[in-house]
Amino acid sequence: MKTFCILSAFALVGTCATPKYTARIQNLKDSIKLEDSTLVINYANTITSEELKSHLYQFSSKDFEGRKVGEAGQKKAAEFLKNYYISEKINSPYGGSNYYQNIPASFFSKGIKSSENVLAYIEGSEKPEEVIIISAHLDHLGINDNGQVCYGADDDGSGTVAIMEIAQAFNRAKNEGHGPKRSILFLHLTAEEIGKRGSEYYVQHPVFPLEKTVTDLNIDMIGRVDDIHKNNKNYIYLIGADRLSKELHYISEKVNSLYFNIDLDYRFNAEREKNQYYTRSDHYNFASKNIPVIFYFNGEHNDYHQPTDTPDKIEYGLLEKRAKLIFATAWQIANQAKRLEVDATNQYLN
Ligand SMILES: [Zn+2]
Repeated sequence: MKTFCILSAFALVGTCATPKYTARIQNLKDSIKLEDSTLVINYANTITSEELKSHLYQFSSKDFEGRKVGEAGQKKAAEFLKNYYISEKINSPYGGSNYYQNIPASFFSKGIKSSENVLAYIEGSEKPEEVIIISAHLDHLGINDNGQVCYGADDDGSGTVAIMEIAQAFNRAKNEGHGPKRSILFLHLTAEEIGKRGSEYYVQHPVFPLEKTVTDLNIDMIGRVDDIHKNNKNYIYLIGADRLSKELHYISEKVNSLYFNIDLDYRFNAEREKNQYYTRSDHYNFASKNIPVIFYFNGEHNDYHQPTDTPDKIEYGLLEKRAKLIFATAWQIANQAKRLEVDATNQYLN
């Protein structure tokens, strides 16, 4: 938070430190009217640590063999997600029981077999052509050279099961007459671990036109606590939120401060930050197409990319709270009167 404020101050000095600019920012903030407060909380509360835990123990089990792209364990993981959406009666954008966007082996480098993104979808009631994407990667590293399974419970089992619960919450709302006005695509991406290839394939072969894609909220590791936050676990790193759309950044802040009060830590959002996380998960392929993104991330820990990234180490209460924040942010973007705007077209900033 602190780092971000300092950065913002520099941005003001560097570009447009006029009262007029700060007034415009204030107008932008004031223009954000949160939708359906009571409903948001009611449905957010259907996201529970118990269900997240139950899903995650299955998704990061030995049975899925570390979910290496194109291998049998990854196929099982894709099948698991597909079966979940079928059982929840959440549709695929393709219709019927086809939930897979197949990616041929020829798209990958040599030795990688064909794979698939898994897509589920809730159609918007008023502006179905405008789509909000919530994404997480389903693949992981597989079995290491010592024969140990890399379970990937945090990376990215945590993001995967968060989406399962978020989708269920939106679907429940829809069934009770409170479906989202815009459409929501629940996008489980493959091949992230070999260079974000599943999201690269998606943006090259989008199921909905990219110009109608409003945002990508990407989740990659939200179940753990890093060393920096050992004494303040109520946090999450947000990366990218203000890069293309300040409106997105202020929506995210407003939703959080009204409902959740999580410490939104922006230190990794700094432009020249050495880890360059902004470029390192699937959201970046959307940002490259001028689609505003938020990357939700708990930071690295000793079990990152190790066989020891197991489901018993996940903080399920925290995972629940972070998933609720993402759900409520998506709810706002899906239901607010005006489509979320990139800064270049935002009347308050120009
Ligand atoms: Zn990951």
